[in-house]
Amino acid sequence: MALIDSHGRTINYVRLAVTDRCNLRCTYCMPQEGIDFVSRQKLLSYEEMIRLLKIFKTLQVNKLRITGGEPLVRKGLLQFLSEISDQEIMPGFHLTTNATLTLPHIEILKDVGLKSVNISLDTLDAKRFIDITRRDQLDEVLASINGFYQNDIPVKINMVVTKGMNDEDILPMAQLAEHRNIQVRFLEEMPFNGTNETKTHFFTHHEIKEILEKGLPPLKSLPFTKGGTSQNYSVDGWKGDIGIIASYSRTFCGSCNRVRVTPTGQLKTCLYGNHVLDLRQLLRNGSSDLEIADSIKQVVAGKPMDGFEAERSRFVDITESMATIGG
Ligand code: SAM
Ligand code: SF4
Repeated sequence: MALIDSHGRTINYVRLAVTDRCNLRCTYCMPQEGIDFVSRQKLLSYEEMIRLLKIFKTLQVNKLRITGGEPLVRKGLLQFLSEISDQEIMPGFHLTTNATLTLPHIEILKDVGLKSVNISLDTLDAKRFIDITRRDQLDEVLASINGFYQNDIPVKINMVVTKGMNDEDILPMAQLAEHRNIQVRFLEEMPFNGTNETKTHFFTHHEIKEILEKGLPPLKSLPFTKGGTSQNYSVDGWKGDIGIIASYSRTFCGSCNRVRVTPTGQLKTCLYGNHVLDLRQLLRNGSSDLEIADSIKQVVAGKPMDGFEAERSRFVDITESMATIGG
């Protein structure tokens, strides 16, 4: 039976965060010293994740994204992905990665069902890369982008636009789509940086669009894809296209089709809301698959209408890192 919420949206997409750990320290995601990474016992095991994915399959969820933290830092990831493929649990998977560790594994990722990759990259400038990620790994990321591209894996590049940090990278980043069939997407920064710091102003999608419009040939709006998050634009003569994700303004919730499972097995029906179901507890307390599926159905039915409603329903202010939630 399909997962349908009380707003009539069908949920067929799960984003599974396989770890909260990361080898980078992006300023918008976590503080320099990192976050309080959870103990290994608190992370879902691969066996638990496999069981969970099978349950999601019975609920007609057919799109899987592997995220984190940085998925590639979790040991055994490739074996886990190959089991999903061998057991035909999902028709392939998508990956969100910082692409610092992927280069040696591109072919195997493709062999075990990688359908597309979203790569986080916020600048092409070596110094700013270090300022933003607090690590020196731009070359590895660029080499991975080439590697995925050459292996015909569809590539999207996600740039978080952080006011005062990388505004001037917007145009050079957009131009990555000129000669290559990739999509470069600009994300509004969200307040999930693992600290109590509250910023007063995030760069909005309007401001990002204005910069793109001023600096590039005319942008042509492409139709919005249902279930998508980005408003996409083409430029005449360009091989790829560009997109803007209003992740803080939350303009796309009406067609949301996703849920998230955090590294500790908490189900979130909205990024901005509370955890709504402790899947880890259910997986470990003897609940049957049917019972777990029923619990998922119930909480999905109550999925908030949008990220604003979800945020209003939170017990506590937003202080968590995207790596804890699973971005
Ligand atoms: N480590 C992987 C990566 O960076 O792609 C996967 C996890 S990361 C948390 C997932 C996505 O969340 C990345 O595209 C990252 O840029 C984005 N992200 C993290 N913190 C964010 C924030 N505060 N606002 C907007 N996007 C954020
Ligand atoms: Fe790591 Fe991704 Fe967070 Fe950057 S955005 S610190 S790469 S989890």
